[in-house]
Amino acid sequence: MSEQNKNAVTADYQALDASHHLHPFTNTGALNKKGARIITHGEGVYLWDSEGQKILDGMAGLWCVNMGYGRQELVEASYEQMKKLPFYNTFFQTTHMPAAELAQEIASVTPEGLDHIFFANSGSEAVDTIIRMVRQYWAIKGKPYKNIIISRENAYHGSTVGGASLGGMSGMHKQGAPGVGGIERIRQPYWYGEAGDMSEEEFGIACAQALEEKILAVGPDNVACFIGEPIQGAGGVIVPPANYWGEIQKICQKYDILVAADEVICGFGRTGSWFGSQTFDIKPDIMSMAKGLSSGYLPISAVAVGERISSALIEHDDDFNHGFTYSGHPAAAAVALKNIQLMKEENIVDYVANDIGPYFQQKLREALADHPLTGHIEGTGLVAGIALVKDKEKKEFFPSDLDIGYICREHCFNNGLIMRAVGSRMVLSPPLVITHAEVDELCEKARLCFDLTLQSVS
Ligand code: PMP
Repeated sequence: MSEQNKNAVTADYQALDASHHLHPFTNTGALNKKGARIITHGEGVYLWDSEGQKILDGMAGLWCVNMGYGRQELVEASYEQMKKLPFYNTFFQTTHMPAAELAQEIASVTPEGLDHIFFANSGSEAVDTIIRMVRQYWAIKGKPYKNIIISRENAYHGSTVGGASLGGMSGMHKQGAPGVGGIERIRQPYWYGEAGDMSEEEFGIACAQALEEKILAVGPDNVACFIGEPIQGAGGVIVPPANYWGEIQKICQKYDILVAADEVICGFGRTGSWFGSQTFDIKPDIMSMAKGLSSGYLPISAVAVGERISSALIEHDDDFNHGFTYSGHPAAAAVALKNIQLMKEENIVDYVANDIGPYFQQKLREALADHPLTGHIEGTGLVAGIALVKDKEKKEFFPSDLDIGYICREHCFNNGLIMRAVGSRMVLSPPLVITHAEVDELCEKARLCFDLTLQSVS
């Protein structure tokens, strides 16, 4: 296509998009003035836009295209299933082959004991399912009052009324009044940003201690569950101190409180284990997953339920009044099934744990650790967060109205790299199939864009 034609196509679609499309998590008015970037296709770790620019996707879409773009095996799994049975529900005493097979396949990779699977379509729906299921569990056990769920500041658990209530993002609480009751929050384990002079270990204990204090304040017999992401993802990739989850676990055990891991980002190999719970030695009673489950090719999510909750639900002689039309959707389930099989065939979790994950973490530090803008780099496997600072030595942050993260993100996009900004933190979560050469390219581009960002603010 000629340059002129490309520009015309871009302008047409920008105008079309602006005329009818309301975008999620976006100032649509501002976007309409500027014009959205139009992504046309993808292959491996790369995307192309309507101007023909090739972009290295350092975010795997939205933390989800773990097996990379253009996987024909996944396309065919969907096509074959749609030809046979595009839809049937799993509500009224029926099932179908993809749902039954996928439940078994998920159970083969979850931590021990988490071997019953409830299906939904999005991470938010999976989280909502956790809210309702843990409360139903305690009701079955004769303690309907044990229904408070404790989460954390700056946690992200989705955008539904339930997920937004549970999450700890104040910007979300301000809109649409997502005020589901019975939710309490404690501080986040963000060592670089919030620990002051405390060592990581001291801070890990202090943050876990906040859970115990909260439990005692509201009464242990009123608390159903603690929920957390093994690594906070949308909050900026915040890796907790090494001792944090162990302490949390002990406290929950002491007061007989269920542990829920929100594995929507960490699940399916991101941290170098099938689930973040395995990387951090969390022993969840219940776990949400989405994104990497199908590598984002079709929307599907799931909740893996441990023996304690599943046996209560199964033995309780009544319906669980919860579910979605598309729970276990046949085509989405067939794609997810194929996706997990591919991950196993290609030893992708081992590749992240022992090869590309350590390589990525090392190269990223080599490229960026000494940069004047880099305050701190944290991450494990193929996920990382970088705090941008004004003054490294004094640990001085940029004023929030400068929007340093946005400036950096724009330089990245204009130079063929997708990095996401969360406030003043830059985050990365590339497809798990990324090669060494592509990691090198990502790191080189990141360095260049940090230089350009520094120039922009100097
Ligand atoms: N939980 C976590 C930990 C997430 O990161 C997300 C999405 N980023 C969600 C829940 C919500 O998932 P979805 O956008 O699919 O509803």
